[in-house]
Amino acid sequence: MDISYIINELGEERENYFNAIAPPIIQSSNFAFKTVDAMRSAFADEYSTYLYSRGLNPTVDILRKKLAALDGAEDALVFNSGAAAIFAAVLANVKAGDHIVSVNKPYTWAQKMFNDILPRFGVTTTYIDGRDIENFERAILPNTTLIYLESPNSWDYALQDLKAVAELAKAEGIVTICDNSYCTPIYQQPILMGIDLSLQSATKYISGHSDTVAGVLSGRKEMIERIFNSEYMNIGSGIQPFNAWLLIRGLRTLPMRLQQITHATQEVVKYLKQHPKVEEVIFPFDEDFPQYELARQQMKGACGLLTFIIKTSSIEQVENFCENLQHILMAVSWGGYESLIIPKCSGIKRADFDPANREHRMLRLYVGQEDAPYLIKDLEKGFAQIV
Ligand SMILES: *Cc1c(COP(=O)(O)O)cnc(C)c1O
Repeated sequence: MDISYIINELGEERENYFNAIAPPIIQSSNFAFKTVDAMRSAFADEYSTYLYSRGLNPTVDILRKKLAALDGAEDALVFNSGAAAIFAAVLANVKAGDHIVSVNKPYTWAQKMFNDILPRFGVTTTYIDGRDIENFERAILPNTTLIYLESPNSWDYALQDLKAVAELAKAEGIVTICDNSYCTPIYQQPILMGIDLSLQSATKYISGHSDTVAGVLSGRKEMIERIFNSEYMNIGSGIQPFNAWLLIRGLRTLPMRLQQITHATQEVVKYLKQHPKVEEVIFPFDEDFPQYELARQQMKGACGLLTFIIKTSSIEQVENFCENLQHILMAVSWGGYESLIIPKCSGIKRADFDPANREHRMLRLYVGQEDAPYLIKDLEKGFAQIV
């Protein structure tokens, strides 16, 4: 299916709503029936009928169809956050006594689920360096039911060989989940590489305007239907119609936004790499990135997030760097129109700063919709603080 068709037309049945070009926001909690029999069949199969908006909703359905198609998946569910998508996907695939293999440092709230919530129900997790397929082979136990991936990771961009992990998991009857937030389906399609469930935070690129929190989960119909009828309905964390409408609107410009960001990111990476005050730039499509070949093989593109390590021995200089930027904002998240920066040292106590630890001098930059020269001029203001 053409991306243009998916984004502009798929799922939109305009004759159902006065031939309006923009889809309506069906802001209704419930739907009426004409006959008892129609109501009966809705109760029997809520996955196929509009009954109550904690389940299906027509505006959300337009979005589901588009997102599933972009992923190359049979179906998709849209949640009120990426964290909710992670929670439902994981919960649906473990029971007491099961074991999970996860890549090191998955998204914070995935990690908190593995460390704090699941052990209360007898589910344990082993973290591995996912860059080496042998680490998966070694970590799998007889009770392993789930492999949790995030490729690339959103701080150090560590990749997993998705095809190889999917193959291994299939042979062992293990379900695979991949957090695809970094790439979006425009730049990577884990489902087409054999991964069972692909998820992403739609808060990032799908929304694209820093005004909505949402998450997507896609996979085979049989698995998505099972999750819908259980975790999705029970947690009640489905997306609301207005937010779904915002995401449909965001999708219209997704490919061109990624194009602009891709171009600007390349320029910014080039600038940072030659900068005398930069020790290292970490970006998956940089030729010096240790997994560059794999990145080129399984990703169609890379953009937006990159990490650089500055040469300094003082935390004040790291702080001054960030505080002297005029346009690049200091904030979490990414995927919107505005460029952002997070210093890794904002996550540690000031007294614990150790210049010998590279991580303490790391800055994660998100390149937004601004032109590269505009951003580079701003970064110069930061570098002026490093002496
Ligand atoms: C932001 C993010 C999430 C969580 O998404 P929310 O929409 O914030 O709940 C999950 N994974 C990655 C990699 C993220 O960056």
